[in-house]
Amino acid sequence: MLAPFDPPLRALMGPGPSDAPPSVLRAMSAPLIGHLDPRFIDAMNEVRTMLQQILRTTNEVTFALSAPGSGGMELCLVNLLEPGDEAVVCVNGVFGGRMADIVERCGARLHRIDVPWGRPVLPDDLAPVLARVRPKLVAVVHAETSTGVRTPLEPLSELTHAAGALFVVDAVTSLAGIDVRVDDWRIDALYSGSQKCLSAPPGLSPVTIGPAAMEAVRRRRTKVQSWFLDLTLLAGYVTGGAGRIYHHTAPVAALLALHEALRLVLVEGLEARFERHRRVHEYLREGLEALGLRFVVEPAYRLPHLNLVWAPEGVNEAAIRRELLDTYGIEIGGGLGEFAGKAWRIGIMGGSCTLGHVDRLLAALRRLLR
Ligand code: PLP
Repeated sequence: MLAPFDPPLRALMGPGPSDAPPSVLRAMSAPLIGHLDPRFIDAMNEVRTMLQQILRTTNEVTFALSAPGSGGMELCLVNLLEPGDEAVVCVNGVFGGRMADIVERCGARLHRIDVPWGRPVLPDDLAPVLARVRPKLVAVVHAETSTGVRTPLEPLSELTHAAGALFVVDAVTSLAGIDVRVDDWRIDALYSGSQKCLSAPPGLSPVTIGPAAMEAVRRRRTKVQSWFLDLTLLAGYVTGGAGRIYHHTAPVAALLALHEALRLVLVEGLEARFERHRRVHEYLREGLEALGLRFVVEPAYRLPHLNLVWAPEGVNEAAIRRELLDTYGIEIGGGLGEFAGKAWRIGIMGGSCTLGHVDRLLAALRRLLR
């Protein structure tokens, strides 16, 4: 007979998930209720209202998709694109590359803008492409988790709308860590993830779809190839208010955990939360630099909560990460792509963004690098 699975205690300081506050974990152990129970519908409605506040949007179609961030990515693209449509995807890391892959799977014509990893996507990268093609949408990753880079969205949104296209944003790693303003920045479709700066368990993807994007979905000539992600079918469940109708069985416990996580974000206040991430980042930066570690990304585009630093020359970076995990119970991430084997990704997201987390990591690194 197998023993019950007993996960070890970790400090989660990698690219996600982050440490979830105790009340978020407790929310998952509440007795189950049905996914159409009027009390659960109340919780879903509250999740929507809180997401609208955190995303700074009045979009009616705002909900937590029953899927991880990749599901939200797929939902946005499969609903907005039909075979033969043209789409521009900006790629400056792993997740832009994933969007490009999905665009091709939709049968759309992909115009891929490759930007060196470690730097943001800038207007000068996008403008020449929009001078040549008239895409239906432009997609970009706000916070590239594979490199720790923040791409400023407003100028890209302006160019996109001037070209008559929809602006699609990946905010998986940015939401609740740095500012995300859906309405002010005219973002037409956006998806995020529950497990990064929101500090809820993985498995849900906050999504918001604006009126122009919903209109594009309604005007489709062909059915969305995915039944599960088809917004025209999903909308009755995710936006129905008291009249929500069955579409699929929502992950009740995960949604109640997200409800608590969103509530905590609003209790703290968005500005205070961003300030906490900035403050703890500075503390981490000073400590890492005192150990002789150097940042990869230039300061203006650094994410405060996902820090890419070069591993010291001649050090087996994977062995250090393993030792951090096994001996100190601290998880950090390795580099991806051209940074694989050369850099570390240190996350201080949401519940993991405390001076205590940073002290613990710095003390362990100090011993291991000695
Ligand atoms: N987009 C970005 C920027 C991410 O960081 C991630 C996950 O790390 C994803 C998309 C995919 O999210 P998930 O792993 O929850 O499917």
